[in-house]
Amino acid sequence: MIIKPRYKGVICTTAHPAGCEMDVRQQIEHVRASGTIGHGPRRALVVGASGGYGLASRISAAFGCGAATIGVFLERPSHKDRTASAGWYRAAAFDRYARQAGLSAWSLNGDAYSSEMKELAIDTIKSELGQVDMVIYSLASPVRVMPATGEVRRSTLKPIGQSFSGYTIDIGSGRLRGIRAEAASDREIRDTVAVMGGEDWELWIAALREADVLANGCITTNYTYVGSEVTWPIYHHGTIGRAKQDLDRAARELRRSLAAIDGTARVIVLKGLLTGASSAIPGMPLYLSLLFRAMRKEGIHEGCIEQIERLFRTRLFGDGTGQLEEESQIRMDDMEMRPDVQAYINTHWANVNNDNLEELADLEGYRNAFLNLHGFGFDGVDYAREVEADVPTTFSESKSRTDQPMSLFAKTK
Ligand code: NAD
Repeated sequence: MIIKPRYKGVICTTAHPAGCEMDVRQQIEHVRASGTIGHGPRRALVVGASGGYGLASRISAAFGCGAATIGVFLERPSHKDRTASAGWYRAAAFDRYARQAGLSAWSLNGDAYSSEMKELAIDTIKSELGQVDMVIYSLASPVRVMPATGEVRRSTLKPIGQSFSGYTIDIGSGRLRGIRAEAASDREIRDTVAVMGGEDWELWIAALREADVLANGCITTNYTYVGSEVTWPIYHHGTIGRAKQDLDRAARELRRSLAAIDGTARVIVLKGLLTGASSAIPGMPLYLSLLFRAMRKEGIHEGCIEQIERLFRTRLFGDGTGQLEEESQIRMDDMEMRPDVQAYINTHWANVNNDNLEELADLEGYRNAFLNLHGFGFDGVDYAREVEADVPTTFSESKSRTDQPMSLFAKTK
């Protein structure tokens, strides 16, 4: 079939397999261009490995450090005339490129919050790798089925204590649209912490430790965002910010428990980027398009792969090996937070409108990033050509795959 972007509100419902493959190829080429990353993991588990920062982490571990990787994600296959999700195509492309490069890779599709997926990952580590030296937790989800009770908890993107009014960008028309989010209830705050806070990260590490599949010196990471003060009412001080604070608590606990195997846990502050997760945050599209303009003007714009490759090469491994001792959070958002970049955003946040949007914000860059997310807009891909939407994979499915989480996925996308 010929696949074109199809929009439903702020969501694109189609994905292009060849474009997603091109994205993976370009990320691999970026990592390879700078050579091997020394002292990196040899065996890595990545939870949330099919998009955004998790995929960039898997690519950096595999193609930068030469690691065998196990990737966990929740993606949707194609069905009749519906394309698969972009993450499905990206994970399939990763597996193909890894195989071609002689790198071992296992991809597990299903609900990472479930006990079944944790068991599947542990079985895969035991049978294929013995142990892992790194666990990257990069999950972004709107919903969690509690493993013990089956209760469904949903995360919300709301301010705390007061309402938030701002703008979002309508991707179809390229115009600003007013949005308002009411203050979250206590229940919504608790649920967001349950979904996006540190508890499931701790459950993963506890299960992996109990199964004795964490190697001595194992490092585990989780990703957070701080960003500009203009987004704090909805992000840093909102429900998602509360969940992110919980990561710092979890990291402290994990550092304590991992000390027994000389391991450690770190929360990494990354820069704001357009990914599946961030496109849904109220106000974020406008902030990101101003940010892209400010950072591109200074020649310091970074995407997921530039951020993560730099993290691996200069902070965690490579040149940064052995320098982690006193830091708990690692800041990779240094360029986003540069005073000149933030000054640009502070100046224009309040006076941007539909008449000056093109001039002040990088609308084209934002639109391209949005198209790229779904595999569209890549040079070198012939979008007028018929392609097969059904891409064969070697993914393993966890037992929980076909019931609850699958239908939840369909509902939340
Ligand atoms: P993303 O939407 O691109 O990727 C999310 C991943 O989680 C995908 O692989 C998806 O398949 C997987 N996933 C979702 N629900 C799942 C489930 N139930 N079971 C298994 N896998 C599931 O997200 P992202 O933006 O890369 O976010 C990853 C992390 O980085 C999050 O913690 C996010 O808060 C953080 N972060 C993002 C930004 C940003 O601007 N995007 C900035 C800083 C930090």
